[in-house]
Amino acid sequence: MRLRLISVMSQLLVPRVDRSKILLFQELYFGKKKAPIKSTVKEAVCTICEKGLEEGVSVTGKQIGQKMRFFCQYHLPKDI
Ligand SMILES: [Zn+2]
Repeated sequence: MRLRLISVMSQLLVPRVDRSKILLFQELYFGKKKAPIKSTVKEAVCTICEKGLEEGVSVTGKQIGQKMRFFCQYHLPKDI
């Protein structure tokens, strides 16, 4: 009973830890401005479709203003 509770708690704690890491990343990289992207910085997923690196998908970083955004080859803005 006690062990079971601990395992349930650790499952609940893991996503909370990850989320606070993500928030910390956004604080560090974007300052007080709200970042419209939900993705983590280290995962580098497309800002628009949230595709990550996978077979046939390339993700490119683009500096837009002060923010680094990532785009797959389909959504990469060509005029910036
Ligand atoms: Zn995309």
